[in-house]
Amino acid sequence: GLIAALMFVSGLSADYFINQRIKDPSLFWFVAVVSISMSILLTLPSYWSSIRMRAYQFSFGTLLVNGVLLICAGVQAWIDGNPFPTGWIMVLIFYTFVLTGLPYRYCTPLGLGLGAFSIGSTFALGAPVGHLVDHCLLIISVTVTGMVACSTLERIDRQGWLRALRMQVQSYSDPLTGLLNRRYFFEEGARQINSADPSDLPIAMLMLDIDYFKKYNDHLGHPQGDRCLRKVASAANPQLRHPLDINARLGGEEFAVLLFSCDQEHALVAAEAIRESVAALDIEHPGSPLGRVSISVGVSVTNETDQSNLDTLLLAADRALYRAKNGGRNRVSL
Ligand code: GH3
Ligand code: MG
Ligand code: MG
Repeated sequence: GLIAALMFVSGLSADYFINQRIKDPSLFWFVAVVSISMSILLTLPSYWSSIRMRAYQFSFGTLLVNGVLLICAGVQAWIDGNPFPTGWIMVLIFYTFVLTGLPYRYCTPLGLGLGAFSIGSTFALGAPVGHLVDHCLLIISVTVTGMVACSTLERIDRQGWLRALRMQVQSYSDPLTGLLNRRYFFEEGARQINSADPSDLPIAMLMLDIDYFKKYNDHLGHPQGDRCLRKVASAANPQLRHPLDINARLGGEEFAVLLFSCDQEHALVAAEAIRESVAALDIEHPGSPLGRVSISVGVSVTNETDQSNLDTLLLAADRALYRAKNGGRNRVSL
């Protein structure tokens, strides 16, 4: 916006004071005031949050008014016997495509429209053929160049965004199981708990741990252990219902499930359902007294009276898990 204002001030001043292309002082002041205030308006969405959501439409309108005004001033200049300001129209079109940051779908109709309007104006003014051809070629080439530049910039921008997104997804996922990882659990889980809406309360945490997993590896080997981890990992997914719910692998054969808007009764039902679905996988385990892979689950739920956070939930769930292990494993404990 500020670059545009500067361009308009210098161009108009040159036309009025030095070249005398614009002779009418009222036209000069009208164009100057409108164009400069429009250019400054372009910067408003950066500072004014309530119109930021409409920044594209806002810039589109501002540039359209500026462009139409510039071409009309050009028409007046031509009528007064001066050259048509093709160069300045080209600058405006190129500015629209490259400097405004407008998406391709906005600046293409704008650039094409202004180009067509300026070509149409020179036709209507009955400009000589040589001038017309020159004008058409210059406007068309700057419009095409602008479109290519804008789409290239937009593609680079999108690729960068996708790359950043992919890196974020990778940094938050556990490569073995595809679940969310420990980092996500501690960063996002803590944030979600601290900023939870009253309707998201209470929050339940389930700590899952595979029983006798060391022996499983010892009997069947690490690669078989990895396959078993992958199968067990998704057992909790059907219990995720709230959009904020998380099923994460904390490390080794330990998983943590965070359930929002879930009271103790529902948390115990969900934990039991997960335990049963692991049992239903019916994975042979030569090192376990049960002969099948099983899990123990520790459950904790936020308390309305104390300030629960991720750490207190985790500690309580860890203690509950310890009780489940001591109680004989393959069970859910509070
Ligand atoms: P408990 O019933 O008390 O939970 O006994 P446990 O053997 O499951 O517990 P312990 O903590 O002694 O052993 C965990 C084992 O998990 C140790 C290690 O061999 C195994 N483990 C940890 N990470 C991985 C992994 O990424 N892949 C495989 N295959 N095994 C893992
Ligand atoms: Mg463990
Ligand atoms: Mg274990």
